[in-house]
Amino acid sequence: MIPFNKPYLTGKEAHYMYQAVFSGKISGNGIFTKKCHTFFEDRYGFNKCLLTTSCTDALEMAAILIDTQPGDEIIMPSYTFVSTANAFVLRGAKIVFCDSMTDHPNIDTEKIESLITSKTKAIVSVHYAGFACDMDRIMHLADKYNLYVIEDAAQAIENYYTGSDGIKRVLGSIGHLAAFSFHETKNIISGEGGMLVINDNKFEERAEIIWEKGTNRSAFFRGETDKYGWVDVGSSFLPSEVIAAFLWAQLENLEDIQKKRLEIWTKYNEGLKDFARENNIKLPSIPEYATNNAHMFYLVCESLEQRSSIIAHLKSKNILSVFHYLSLHTSPFYKDKHDGRTLAQCDRYADTLVRLPLYYDLTEEDICLIIREIKGSV
Ligand SMILES: *Cc1c(COP(=O)(O)O)cnc(C)c1O
Repeated sequence: MIPFNKPYLTGKEAHYMYQAVFSGKISGNGIFTKKCHTFFEDRYGFNKCLLTTSCTDALEMAAILIDTQPGDEIIMPSYTFVSTANAFVLRGAKIVFCDSMTDHPNIDTEKIESLITSKTKAIVSVHYAGFACDMDRIMHLADKYNLYVIEDAAQAIENYYTGSDGIKRVLGSIGHLAAFSFHETKNIISGEGGMLVINDNKFEERAEIIWEKGTNRSAFFRGETDKYGWVDVGSSFLPSEVIAAFLWAQLENLEDIQKKRLEIWTKYNEGLKDFARENNIKLPSIPEYATNNAHMFYLVCESLEQRSSIIAHLKSKNILSVFHYLSLHTSPFYKDKHDGRTLAQCDRYADTLVRLPLYYDLTEEDICLIIREIKGSV
């Protein structure tokens, strides 16, 4: 049996978790949390990072930070994970869904401007499969209409965007705020886990308060205030040290993990190139401004029938491939709230995209078998 995903352990996770447990400080914002924050701030030049219990929580923090109010409109792709939308819906916002590009599941930036109204507050750029959105275009619209940009960088660790100025920027550093995920299906994991990146420093102080249940506890422990109390809304968004310790073991091996994933991605890409062309199947297209972090390898099939037969054939050979996302604008929860526009590309990806197994321990033999069986399935 070849599963779709298998969490990779570097070997140090349990060791660091043991250290965290027996350090006498198991709650959040301790030594391992600080190690992780420093790692990200040093490696990527992020202004400020806060680990969270999930990317979902980081998105909820972003929605609070930009002061999302009932009636505000938030523009985002419909082809995304439910948390991208839920974070803003929880604060009463209306989601204005935008279609994907014809040649890429990312948001079609040509279609954003016509969706902007006086109520628009933010654009959420979801970097699908880790590939950068056209951030120049999104940041230009944000400047022009005075909007916030939040990067849903859940899948985008270690990926870059090169703008028209020729400068290479790491994803998560471009929008006002960004959210990463360390869910066990992502490249770098802690079971459940995430991180908020605060690029616009006007949000720095309040982000820490919202993170710590609406109190100024972090400032108090730094000696910046002589007592701490309730100063704002907030929740318990910070993970325990046990989670941060797990994450630290992964971060120490980031480059090794990335190298391995990229090797697997490249083998799929090489092995399936001709087959895809002959069968009208599209392999992932990497925009010229984007790098590849090998988060995901997917096929965009010609039809729902073709996809179903590939998935069924692989399953009959004990290989698990999966499809996702069901369009959010036609979901049971949102279809009556959506304004009725058809989003043809989004619906097409929902019907035809299939993800192949991609994890550290996938062997050369497994990959060859998967490629052979895909070729035998149509
Ligand atoms: C995984 C994912 C999320 C949610 O991440 P969690 O850490 O599970 O909350 C949000 N958005 C996108 C695009 C994702 O892929």
